This record gives sequence, structure tokens and C-alpha cells, in this order.
Amino acid sequence: MATACKRAAAKTVPAPTVPVPCEPCQGTGQVGNPVRVGRRHRNVGEQQGACLACWGSGEAPAADPA
Ligand SMILES: [Zn+2]
Repeated sequence: MATACKRAAAKTVPAPTVPVPCEPCQGTGQVGNPVRVGRRHRNVGEQQGACLACWGSGEAPAADPA
């Protein structure tokens, strides 16, 4: 009578986390905000500010496990 060789189920290896670049800042961590001055809100340029989506890390925020 042959004994069936049962192997233990292989443990699932978690996939390596690949940093996903943040969408609004394209992974730079900074976004440009248009600067408007005057009564007609003339656009005079841009100022750099920290990305509010990733807080300057440049990586897309992980979804919260709710
Ligand atoms: Zn960002």
C-alpha cells in the first residue's frame, strides 16, 4: 500500500512592495500652485508646495484598511 506523500502547503510569500509614485505630484513630492495677484487675479507664476496627497514623500498613500 503506497503512502501518499502529502506536502505541506507552501507559505504565501507577500509580494514585495513597489512604491507607487503619487499621482498629483508624479512622485516628486511637490506640486506647483499658481500664484495670482491683483484684482483680475493675474497669474504671475507658480510656487512649489508639498503634495497634500502624499505629504511630500512622493509615494502614493496606501489605502486604509477600514
Ligand atoms: Zn504626492
